[in-house]
Formats: sequence, C-alpha cells, structure tokens
Amino acid sequence: MTLEKASLKLLQEALERLEIGFQGLPEVEHTTNLDALRIVLLEVAERMHDNYPYHHPLYIGQMLKPPTEIARLAYMLSLWINPNNHALDGGKASSAMEKEAVAEIAKMFGWNTHVGHLCSGGTIANLEGLWVARTLVPNKKIAASNHSHYTHQRICGVLNIPFQPIPCDSRSRLDVGSLKKILEEEDIGTVVVTIGTTATGAIDPLPDILELQSEYRFRIHVDAAYGGYFTLVDNLDAETRTVFDCLKEVDSLVVDPHKHGLQPYGCGCILFKDSSVARIYKHDSPYTYFSSDELHLGEISLECSRAGASAVALWATQRLLPLTPKGKFATDLSKARKAALLLFERIQKDPRFIVAFAPELDIVIWAPKAKNASEISLLSKEIFKESAVKNLHLAMAELPRELFADTKQEINWDVNYVTCLRSCLMKPEHLDWIDRIWSTLDLVTNKVLNNSI
Ligand SMILES: *Cc1c(COP(=O)(O)O)cnc(C)c1O
Repeated sequence: MTLEKASLKLLQEALERLEIGFQGLPEVEHTTNLDALRIVLLEVAERMHDNYPYHHPLYIGQMLKPPTEIARLAYMLSLWINPNNHALDGGKASSAMEKEAVAEIAKMFGWNTHVGHLCSGGTIANLEGLWVARTLVPNKKIAASNHSHYTHQRICGVLNIPFQPIPCDSRSRLDVGSLKKILEEEDIGTVVVTIGTTATGAIDPLPDILELQSEYRFRIHVDAAYGGYFTLVDNLDAETRTVFDCLKEVDSLVVDPHKHGLQPYGCGCILFKDSSVARIYKHDSPYTYFSSDELHLGEISLECSRAGASAVALWATQRLLPLTPKGKFATDLSKARKAALLLFERIQKDPRFIVAFAPELDIVIWAPKAKNASEISLLSKEIFKESAVKNLHLAMAELPRELFADTKQEINWDVNYVTCLRSCLMKPEHLDWIDRIWSTLDLVTNKVLNNSI
C-alpha cells in the first residue's frame, strides 16, 4: 500500500500562513543541514518498518488506529511554535483551542456545565477523576468491576484509597446485584462505571447504578476512554443507547480522543460536571500564571507541561468533523460498528466458531470450536499467528469461563480461562473490507483446524 501524502502540500501552505503572524520580528538565519537530517530521517523510516500495519483495513487487532489527516497536519503545523498548554504564557492560542474543544466534548455528552481539560491519556484522566473523588468523599472505598481497566486498582494504590472489586455478569458488565450487596456492606464513596471495557467493549448498566445511587449516595465516575464517542452513532442496541443517554447524570467522565477521536497519542480528556471542582486543583506558582487573569489550564490539571499540539490537532479535527449525530465523524464511527456486527454475524453462523456475546460497540470476540478449553486456546493462538502471515492482524484476549455461560456450545473446562480471538474494528474502511477479512479468516481457520485433526 502507499501512504497518503497529498495532504502534505497543505502543510507548506499553512506554514507560510503561520509565518505571517511573526512578520514583525527580525529575520533569523536557518542553519538546517538537509544532508545530515536526511540520513537520520531515512534511517527512522527504515526503523518504522518494524510495526504492524495499524493504518491498514486488514489490521483488526488491538485498539489502534492512525490519526485523521487534519489532526496529523494541525499537530505538525503547531510544532513550529511548540505551545505548552500548562499556562497561557506557553500556549495562548492552543489553550483557547483546548477550552473550545473540551466544551464541545462536554456538549456531546449533553452536559450543560463542566470543568475539564486534555491530558496525556486515559490513565492520567482517570487518576484525576479518582483523585478528585477521594478529595470530595474522603475515607471511603472506590469500587469498579472486575473487568474495568486495571488502571483503576493501580490508581487507588497510588492514591492510597481502598479498592473494591465488583463481580461481572456473563456479558462482562458490572453485576448490579453484587454492587447492591457491596453497597450494603461496605463504605463505598465512588463507583467507577465503564462504558466500553477494554477487552470486550462491554457497557456497565448505568441506569441501574443511578437507581442505586439515589438510595446509597455515592459518586459516579465514568470511564468511557474507549467507548465515549459511540454516543454519536445511530446503530447501538436499544439497551446500550439507554446507557449513553444517562451520561448526563454522572459526576465525572473520561474519554480518550486518542482512541476513537482520531487523534495522535497523548490526548485524553477528563470532565467534571460540577465546575467548582476547580478549587481542588488550586495551587500557587511563583513563576507562572502572570500573563493573564484568564484561566490557565495548569490551574485545573495535575500535569504541568503538556503538548499544546494535541489541543490544536483536536480542535482542528472537531472543526472539520464536528461531534454531531449524523455528521461525518458519527457516520464513520457507525460504519466501524456496522463492520463489527457483520463480522460477528458471519462468525456466529459458522459452525467452526463459538461466540460468547454480540459486540456492544465494535469489538468482536470469538474462538474456534474444540472439546476442551485448553485446546480452544491453542487453536486461537494458531489462528492468530497464521492470520498474521496472511496479512490479517487479529488480537487475543484471555477470558474467564463465566463469560461463556450463555453459549450453547458444550465446553469441557479443563482450565478456567480460555484464549479467544479479539478484533477491534475501529476504522470505517473495515466495512468495505469485510469480505476480504472474512475470506482470509475462513482460509486460515480451515488450515489450522485441518492441521489439528
Ligand atoms: C485505554 C483505556 C484506559 C487507559 O487509557 P490510556 O489512554 O491508554 O492511558 C483506561 N480505561 C479504558 C476503559 C481504556 O480502554
């Protein structure tokens, strides 16, 4: 395949436009040694061969997708300035762009009020969410499901807050009955609700958790790092849709623009509903925050220096592809989900495979049929390996036996975990490639199953 390069022409033009803003300054001589740069840069290009082709539609493995063209260009363009969004001193324009872009994200979730900002990713965003939760409801536990991201338990360790795991149901969602029991017995200050678990894209039952909240009083922190943007699509199941419609009600929320928001890495987002939370971040700095009385983003974030380029890229992306239902951004995301549903349908109908549950978002989980769980795992690993040889890149997930409670397939559970195949179909192009994806999977599966007899 060739890489998209036509858009690079615009970078030159945009740099010339950027230059105009600094025309009043005396000229500075550039001493760029193109020959020396060339040698190293071409070496870098060679080194970069050693990657899976994340940008190709036949890559349907982990949660990886390339940033969109406008994000890439805007990010690069801003590097000639290299703004730092810690303070307005370091990034005036990019701080303003960040505030606008973050407000648009809050609006996407139906929030009328918010305080929030970008950060380096979902981990830091969740750290801030739980840090604020601990400050507001001190000395109480933080609860999250067994299938929530491992970061929550680790963050609780960092913050020195007791962590309470909650069991999941057979679809990998937080089990409400178990949560109720835990709320009766333990002092829970905050419940983490995952909208799109990392392994399977499962959606915790937020409406039921909100009902428990009215009885037991706790904060709700939503980890929608992966799934948040799906609020814009028009092809969710009715039950999943209901969950997204409740996101208005929660206290804090994390979404990762670098997962489904078409951004380069280094772009997470934390939002708090109550804007007075800003007081918790309050600190003095003897050497920053002088250039303006306006809000410096460093006054409401844990991280100090941060890439203003991330904010510029996000702002530009949302300008070109607004976060509106039925817009191109939403339509493309719907296509990714559609592709996942089509692949799931084919797998489900095929007697060679077992499926545990249908995708709630765009992540498909399946496994080749065999008598013992341990054999299934071996075959999954074989299909994973052989597919890659044929340029089809899948991922794997080790899933507990409980998640297979609803399958009709008899499995002899000689071990309690089984390795499954896992595909994140994150790119809209997957939709046009489903036949080719399927034909490779079909071919490879036959080969692996025939060899195993
Ligand atoms: C990816 C992910 C995280 C971690 O985010 P990073 O951006 O990788 O730091 C947290 N929670 C969920 C649900 C995720 O999918």
